[in-house]
Amino acid sequence: MKIKPFSLMALFACLSFWAMAQKPSYPSYEHYPLPKGDLVEMRYQRSHTQFQLWAPTATSVQLRLYAHGSEGKPTRTLRMKPSSDGCWRLTVRGNLEGQYYTYEVEHEGKLLGETPGINARAVGLNGRRAAIIDLRTTDPEGWKDDKAPTQNDIVIYEMHHRDFSIHPSSGVQHRGKYLALTQSGSHTLDSLPTGLDHLKDLGVTHVHLLPSYDYASIDEAKHREPHYNWGYDPLNYNVPEGSYSTDPADPKSRIREFKQMVQALHKAGLRVVLDVVYNHTYDIAGSNFERTVPGYFFRTRPDGTPANASGCGNETASERAVMRRYMVESVEYWLREYHVDGFRFDLMGIHDLETMRQIRAAAQRIRPEVLIYGEGWAAEAPQLPADQLAMKANVHQLEGIAAFSDELRDGLRGPFSDDKQTAFLGGLEGHEESIKYGIVGGIAHPQVDCSKVNYTRKPWASQPQQLISYVSCHDDMCLHDRLRSSIPHATEQQLRELALLAQTAVFTSQGIPFMQAGEELCRTKLMVHNSYNQPDSINQIDWSTKAQYLPDYRYYRELITLRREHPAFRLRSAELVRRHLEFLAAPAGVVAYRLKDHAGGDQWKDIVVVLNGTSSTQTIELPPHDYQLYMSSHFRPDLEGDPAHLHGSLRVPKQCALVLFCE
Ligand code: CA
Repeated sequence: MKIKPFSLMALFACLSFWAMAQKPSYPSYEHYPLPKGDLVEMRYQRSHTQFQLWAPTATSVQLRLYAHGSEGKPTRTLRMKPSSDGCWRLTVRGNLEGQYYTYEVEHEGKLLGETPGINARAVGLNGRRAAIIDLRTTDPEGWKDDKAPTQNDIVIYEMHHRDFSIHPSSGVQHRGKYLALTQSGSHTLDSLPTGLDHLKDLGVTHVHLLPSYDYASIDEAKHREPHYNWGYDPLNYNVPEGSYSTDPADPKSRIREFKQMVQALHKAGLRVVLDVVYNHTYDIAGSNFERTVPGYFFRTRPDGTPANASGCGNETASERAVMRRYMVESVEYWLREYHVDGFRFDLMGIHDLETMRQIRAAAQRIRPEVLIYGEGWAAEAPQLPADQLAMKANVHQLEGIAAFSDELRDGLRGPFSDDKQTAFLGGLEGHEESIKYGIVGGIAHPQVDCSKVNYTRKPWASQPQQLISYVSCHDDMCLHDRLRSSIPHATEQQLRELALLAQTAVFTSQGIPFMQAGEELCRTKLMVHNSYNQPDSINQIDWSTKAQYLPDYRYYRELITLRREHPAFRLRSAELVRRHLEFLAAPAGVVAYRLKDHAGGDQWKDIVVVLNGTSSTQTIELPPHDYQLYMSSHFRPDLEGDPAHLHGSLRVPKQCALVLFCE
């Protein structure tokens, strides 16, 4: 029998479809076909909506349409069509705006459970169904003209939406919500500014928001009830979390209000950093990744069990082509759609170097000044060779990306693992080189002896801007609790002054300074070490204490002003730091350094910073200049001699930081 060419083609097509429908199999993940275009899964137009899901191992994919975001049965169930690039596609005619959808993948004869896809950009209540909306209708008025403010310094302020405004003393209308950061004019009962006005007055430049993508642990149906989590349990990476919106059941509410927040922060002169947690998901089985392409997005151990470098039960595989592309596209999306200005990568050490480099390059194309930093470590050793990971030790291979310095943090206050253990701040000797390491910004410096630095034997930063300088963050005890716990005999006033001493080291460091919200008000978390799911009573910032701690607050503000006005504290290159920053001879338990020769083109000719962590007065020899006192971390001046003319031997009060200058 003669077969016509057309029929032959049809037969091949049928055979290939049959083969795919039966059991698509590839020798390894590297052989999975890659999507031809981007990973966008839903494109809405008034006349039709295009759906796409990358699921190369699926034997069938169904699209389900719903009238509601979280209840009811599907109004339609439609079969999607496979393509050679591993994607399943379908175009549905008509105007679907306001409807919801899920995908259901069949894999090796099993239905994997409904998912909004890995790339939903709008969702219904609790993020289980994706929403069909026109994103342009979520733009607040003036959104097209929204622009990041110009800044000449970076000072990061890390906050959680609820911590920041949930306490009634915040005087904020939408407490605990995105909109809290849009309100000016809020104040305490004693008329001291709170919220947005507080941030403007303090002078920080970047608001770093704890996870604000859609996460799993909060029931959004109960969003008005007290219910707390940090949010390190990702569900939908490309949608804002619903519980911080005023109406989580309306898919547009969280998107619009998030944009309003960014817009208001930009108008207030602040930039916005998102905490992104691509390194793990809430769980594996229920995750959108696993319900779409089983196994692909997660690393396993050699015995096949799930790897767990996150300490949260799983570890994603950034090195695989589609996971890498997913992370790059996600970052691009937050930059373009939400106008954010930077990213903090949770457990960045789980990700591979190449992915982080691609993220940096893609982000920089959209926003040249984008700020990217992360935790250069992991909870357990990840399942990739150590030299491929975005760990702290490899940060010198990540141009334009910074990592947190636990060297400085723990050199100041003591180790993460023991809240009762102190270090430099408790007057212990032997931590000086760790402090100095942080002060130079983690670069090679002839006067820093890395053999005596706590956690690293060689400088890991190529440039000082690659080191995030800090003494506390949301993890573990906040600064005042830690000091209370580790230096139990200190008086309240001593503890407050020690906190200011610590922050002087942080803010005069050549790295990028970072602080946790509320430290400037001597915030307490009632000695709770890990408060990720603790109630508001533990986590909230009590603004009514602002009056009591005004001197502390003003000191923070002064440190930020000092940096802003004096480029010497933010030298642009490692070479400049080596040229201008010189450590002075100092007794044990004291670190002293100068910024010499008009560092950074500064109007000040010479600057001296002294940090005395010991419990006694210490003496250092000043360089041959006549110095003036600029600031002291002690509430009452107790410096011997004339503060306008300091020279020769300087007696440095106990547990005190001093900043001196000469013109
Ligand atoms: Ca959620």
